[in-house]
Amino acid sequence: MASHSLDTLGVHAGRDDFRRLGVHAAPLDLSTTYPIDDLADAIRDIDTMAAGGRPERNAIYARLENPTVSRFERALAELEHADDAVAFGSGMAAVTAALLVARQRGAHVVGVRPLYGGTDHLLESRLLSLDVTWATPDTVGAAMRDDTALVIIETPANPTLLLVDIADVVRQAGRVPVLVDSTFATPVLQQPLAHGATLSLHSGTKYLGGHGDVMAGVIAANDDWARALRQVRVLTGAVLHPMAAYLLHRGLQTLGVRVRAAQAGAIAIAERLRAHPGVERVYFPGIAACDPRRILARQMRGPGAMLAFDVAGGFDAAAAVMRDVRMIVPAVSLGSTDTLIQHPAGLTHRVIGEAARAAEGLSPGMLRLSVGLESPDDVWADLERALRATLHESPAASTRRSEPSVETTTVEA
Ligand SMILES: *Cc1c(COP(=O)(O)O)cnc(C)c1O
Repeated sequence: MASHSLDTLGVHAGRDDFRRLGVHAAPLDLSTTYPIDDLADAIRDIDTMAAGGRPERNAIYARLENPTVSRFERALAELEHADDAVAFGSGMAAVTAALLVARQRGAHVVGVRPLYGGTDHLLESRLLSLDVTWATPDTVGAAMRDDTALVIIETPANPTLLLVDIADVVRQAGRVPVLVDSTFATPVLQQPLAHGATLSLHSGTKYLGGHGDVMAGVIAANDDWARALRQVRVLTGAVLHPMAAYLLHRGLQTLGVRVRAAQAGAIAIAERLRAHPGVERVYFPGIAACDPRRILARQMRGPGAMLAFDVAGGFDAAAAVMRDVRMIVPAVSLGSTDTLIQHPAGLTHRVIGEAARAAEGLSPGMLRLSVGLESPDDVWADLERALRATLHESPAASTRRSEPSVETTTVEA
């Protein structure tokens, strides 16, 4: 099936055994233990799983393997054009597993800021006894040491939506594997492994699940890394619940449609925000000024559905917008069917500290918008009303339009 388009893979991948099983929806296997018919077979499977492999006959115990989870992993691996994928109970559990594998290979990690607040905080906490060097996309090469075991980047980055050139970072990293947090892009818009990355990580809590009701993390990788990650998962118990895997696998069927529809909304809203007098600056990869190196066209199929903007009037005005929206939900997280708005400096990136926030251009007036699947006109009407209130001015003045400035990159299936 690897030759099929992404939309087709989203619908069919990980479902190869359905005909044989005589089912149309994925069986949800909630077993914690599995009857053992043949002890010799079970021993072989135990040995395989202890080494990070998949069992041939018997899953033995749910912390080792689960068929519902396994189907989701195989499907995600196909979407990422990877050998395999390993799913975890949350995005942070996935990040932690990757760092634990890296820790066995070297004591140093290079991170390119901005990263997700939790990832940044985990690295800064020294909880895993890893030395961290923070680099910019251009100083990764200079930050490498003999004991560097992993380079971590996030693109589009959170919350500034900056793009990082994956192939360029891979070149600078040399022999050291590069992990790309591709949560904002999803496999619909970006496949990091095609640009030389070793690991593509997603918080499945976001677009993959897509309905704000499942927490998960997943890493697509080659067989070598998948084995090492699975071994860590067995040891630490950071497993994905089969119900969550069922919802994620179901979510993949509509991933392409959802991401493209939300993206179309984001393009429309980014354009209107740019023209709004209550907005100082818009951060969106589809705006040429936000992507001066033209990275979008090289590694993505579209700008995605996440954007951020600085409200004129700083913190107080941003807080007022968050308070005054009625349909848009003031909440962290992203990638759901509904549009969410949040304040990065006060919420998602609070943990990284004021100095790091300032260095990354994360202003007190910044709001981040995860554009959902509502009509973009309705989202805009809600947002515009809240923004207008910060200006105390008429709707006619605040909806003036500027030149069309947002690239409408088409998204292939
Ligand atoms: C949410 C998120 C994470 C962490 O995922 P959880 O599922 O919340 O643990 C990591 N990276 C990015 C970019 C995220 O948005």
